[in-house]
Amino acid sequence: MRRALVIARRGPAGDINPQVGCVVLDPEGRIVSEGWHRGAGTPHAEVDALSRVPEEWRRRSRELTAVVTLEPCNHTGRTGPCAVALSEFGIGTVVYALSDPGDASSGGAATLRAAGVEVIAGVLPGEARAVIGPWLARVPAAPTPPIQDAASTPTPPIERRAQREVEITPPTSPARTSR
Ligand SMILES: [Zn+2]
Repeated sequence: MRRALVIARRGPAGDINPQVGCVVLDPEGRIVSEGWHRGAGTPHAEVDALSRVPEEWRRRSRELTAVVTLEPCNHTGRTGPCAVALSEFGIGTVVYALSDPGDASSGGAATLRAAGVEVIAGVLPGEARAVIGPWLARVPAAPTPPIQDAASTPTPPIERRAQREVEITPPTSPARTSR
């Protein structure tokens, strides 16, 4: 996962898509391939990594584990859903750090499990949040609030409640990842 987080940072910061890295491992934990997301409209990290898996491993895909910094997406945007790409590839196990909080893109773990893929969530979530925290804060996209002097401007109760709601629905919510 640390390697996946390192290569995730190669992607563009501040893109509408998060910086995501993916490392495919063999049963001994050796790196078979790596991928990362290069920005909106380009293949996601998982698809990039799968495209680099050597031919000899494609026949043994069940033995492979994909380690991804964010839950594989579940929706069709400019690219197809990574959860489907991973299951169609025949990956045996998917390990990820943070759940995808996006309204449209979350649910990848459930899709993978339904396809018989072993899913392990919540690996190094703190370190992953250090990489995609700014993106997480933007999802779902909310209008940018005006910059205020926190000391002189008390937070209105409604905003305070909204902040609490954000805090009590962490992206690693077990209710979502255990399904
Ligand atoms: Zn994706």
